[in-house]
Amino acid sequence: MILFAHVAFADAVSSAGNFSWPMAFLFGLISHHFLDLIPHLDAGCVWPVKDRDGGKMPKATVIFIAVEALLTLGFLIWCAFFLKINWAILFWASFGAALPDLIVTGFPFFIPKMRTWPWVKKYGKFHYSFFDHLSIPTNWIFGIFSTILIIGVSFWLLLK
Ligand SMILES: [Zn+2]
Repeated sequence: MILFAHVAFADAVSSAGNFSWPMAFLFGLISHHFLDLIPHLDAGCVWPVKDRDGGKMPKATVIFIAVEALLTLGFLIWCAFFLKINWAILFWASFGAALPDLIVTGFPFFIPKMRTWPWVKKYGKFHYSFFDHLSIPTNWIFGIFSTILIIGVSFWLLLK
């Protein structure tokens, strides 16, 4: 699922549930894999598997990830300054929620070599076993719908 949906959901539930920071981190980490079970949108939609495994990132993927990162950053600033959510909870929930994708993509721009490390490959297999990128093109409508739904639930939790 897109970074924004992972982060929004983990932050919203952690804040609504008054989680401690280790709980927020764990919830972000675990919810990530469960959200990946639902057909969804993510950078994988614009990042062919052969490019990802070959350590290449097409321009469309770079733009997708950059826009996503900016959107998520804006969301975090809004949560911290306007909703006054504890910054430590925001940080740990978001970090846990983003970590699986950061690991399997080698922190996309920073350590691309990481994608070839054996334990990262193993973890990548586990991570991708939760969903199948190849099924996404046929599930575009459902993928968009489920991603919007998760973001919607998150905003409802934050604003209720
Ligand atoms: Zn993921």
